[in-house]
Amino acid sequence: MIDLTGKVAVVTGASRGIGRAIAAKLHSAGAEVVLVARNPQRLNEAAEELGNAMAVPMDVSAADEVQTGFKNIIREKGKIDILVNNAGITRDNLLLRLKEEDIQQVLDINLKSMFFTSKNVLKPMMKQRWGRIINITSVIGLTGNSGQSNYAASKAGIMGFTKSLAKEIGSRNITVNAVAPGFIETDMTAELSEDVQKEMAASIALGRFGSTEDVANAVLFLASDLADYITGEVMNVTGGMYM
Ligand code: NAP
Repeated sequence: MIDLTGKVAVVTGASRGIGRAIAAKLHSAGAEVVLVARNPQRLNEAAEELGNAMAVPMDVSAADEVQTGFKNIIREKGKIDILVNNAGITRDNLLLRLKEEDIQQVLDINLKSMFFTSKNVLKPMMKQRWGRIINITSVIGLTGNSGQSNYAASKAGIMGFTKSLAKEIGSRNITVNAVAPGFIETDMTAELSEDVQKEMAASIALGRFGSTEDVANAVLFLASDLADYITGEVMNVTGGMYM
């Protein structure tokens, strides 16, 4: 039984989908969870579900908003033990049709944001010589996907970022890992056409789409003491869609 009592965990993109499931999972293991997303209404609804957890609305791609938001969290909670960088978006199109803003937004929200959030937790984590940073990437960062060059580049970038940071701060007893989900049933994948969904299902060894809880379980493990000696890893949660 994993017990995170006494730990403070910040989860970005926690108002719905995978992030919401991660927040609920860490909360049920005893952690004090802080939820981050842009839309305050949906965020507050999610926070209420977790016994009025702290909710801090911010755009994770805006360095100043992240700095202010994380300062508030540390002032209120005294520390941050676990950071889950989960916020992400897609703006799919073939490269020839991709607008510059679709490229920029995806790279900023999915990848650049992790530099900002991680930077703001390092000092408190280093001081206490314990920390966990878990970055949600995607199987698409490993395989690539037609129509998702911006998304795939952002997700591959997360893997390089994860490994580099793991090397930078390993000696401080801070681990940095990534989780790469495959096809998970959420708002994001509901947008895909039925044909694409069928094609993807056919390539999954376990023969089913993943649930948000499947991803949350992997994050819980990496956040726990059971994963003390694991860092710089990319853990695939794809049901065998990618091996
Ligand atoms: P989702 O249902 O669309 O939820 C995205 C979350 O991120 C929302 O809470 C959203 O809230 C927040 N968010 C988006 N932009 C933000 C920003 N700039 N600042 C702060 N929060 C922001 O997505 P999901 O399917 O759960 O995906 C979560 C993560 O898993 C993403 O990184 C995604 O790439 C990854 N992933 C998903 C799948 C899948 O099959 N679903 C597979 C592989 C990887 P607001 O809009 O209110 O900000």
